Amino acid sequence: MTAKREPTFRESVDLMFNRAVALMELPPGLEEKIRVCNATYTVRFGVRLRGQIHTFTGYRSVHSEHMEPVKGGIRYAMGVNQDEVEALAALMTYKCALVEAPFGGSKGGLRLDPREWEEHELEMITRRFAYELIKRDLIHPAQNVPAPDMGTGEREMAWIADQYKRMATTDINYRACVTGKPIHGGGIQGRTEATGRGVQYALREFFRHPEDVAAAGMSGKLDGKRVVVQGLGNVGYHAAKFLSEEDGCKVTAIIERDGALIDESGLDVEAVRNWIARHGGVDGYPDGKYIADGTKALENECEILIPAAMEGVINLENAARIKAPLIIEAANGPVTAGADDILRQKGTVIIPDMYANAGGVTVSYFEWVKNLSHIRFGRIGRRQEEARHQLIIDELERLDAHLGDNWQMSPHFKQQYLRGAGELELVRSGLDDTMRSAYQSMREVWHNRQDVTDLRTAAYLVSIAKVAASYRAMGL
Ligand code: NAD
Repeated sequence: MTAKREPTFRESVDLMFNRAVALMELPPGLEEKIRVCNATYTVRFGVRLRGQIHTFTGYRSVHSEHMEPVKGGIRYAMGVNQDEVEALAALMTYKCALVEAPFGGSKGGLRLDPREWEEHELEMITRRFAYELIKRDLIHPAQNVPAPDMGTGEREMAWIADQYKRMATTDINYRACVTGKPIHGGGIQGRTEATGRGVQYALREFFRHPEDVAAAGMSGKLDGKRVVVQGLGNVGYHAAKFLSEEDGCKVTAIIERDGALIDESGLDVEAVRNWIARHGGVDGYPDGKYIADGTKALENECEILIPAAMEGVINLENAARIKAPLIIEAANGPVTAGADDILRQKGTVIIPDMYANAGGVTVSYFEWVKNLSHIRFGRIGRRQEEARHQLIIDELERLDAHLGDNWQMSPHFKQQYLRGAGELELVRSGLDDTMRSAYQSMREVWHNRQDVTDLRTAAYLVSIAKVAASYRAMGL
């Protein structure tokens, strides 16, 4: 018997898409129109560094322009290739539709290992890559708005915004050409943490529904649940930190490139993060057991498994051995289509990537709106809101004095109630609302349709229906 072949990342996304559209009645041809990637631009450019010219290969793929601008991160990694970028661009289309961020899907990548280059070299490479994309309108506030992804962060986004400004000197909206910028470069509070925060909000929403928790063979609340996380980068670090510090979860394993740390009593996420920053990996960390074959820890006993590093890590080879009853896909595409089949048959509940990591694009949407409106959220209304609250407090205190000692407002209540919402509170509130409503829309399909047995298919059904409706509204 020949071994079953693992599909590529893009094939995996297409297979999952096909499983969902088989349950829909789309007009002939529309299914194909939605599935295919509209265009992928490949660029090879040279940069003079360390006394010689180095050639780099980059991509920007546009999956669907049913809404513009299109949106999607730029990734720096050695594994970047056209197949991967197209898969990620397709996921962006479905993700934006699911969480109602008014964008089409796109993604970019540059094949390089950022750890091999000095900061000033990375700046030269990033600016040159941005130049190539900007001159083709593949970075543009109205047409294509990148964001950070694996290997990139606010530093790279600031370079891109500045490069765009140099080339589009009269564009008053230049800051909206990219999101995930530093706060002093036109960014928004809460963007860096947004994807990890979204994972936390998604899990909180899941645990609000005892029926869903029971579907994963669990009971109770988030408090006390054991979590295994793979990748302590932007997404994994924030998710693990918030879940352990705010929701009472125990992070029993952290998997990184060089191995995994295990501690059944719970690892200190902040301390591990600091250790990695100083030593480049988890090896040698004193408060936990180290194993060199980190991926083995994906198979550890735990309630919640959070793959937050890269695609394809849960695959035909290891899926049958995964013990976690609940997987939340913080990374894009961590479970291959083949593994998804195996896990579904085992009864594992998977909270799919297009929903689980949508916190990033949601807050990116807020940042883009902030950049276009040229004003910080809360700036106009905050003090007015506080003044109105003060009125109520004054009135209650007047009554209090009148009624004597029978009741009193707690000082904590007064302080909390009086505080008007600043940008961070508003961003978190918008993110929480988005994660809750998107979950509700998936869950309705999951529970109400007999032919839908998993959250991923439900997510695809919801998002494809929205993309199809946009195309129909355009007369297609
Ligand atoms: P990052 O570069 O900040 O972090 C990735 C982490 O994973 C790093 O700590 C790296 O050392 C680790 N890692 C890499 N390969 C690994 C391996 N084979 N085994 C174990 N650990 C490994 O990247 P990120 O921004 O946190 O992105 C992680 C995933 O989340 C990607 O799939 C990305 O597409 C997805 N994502 C990111 C965002 C965002 O806002 N940054 C938004 C949505 C989705």
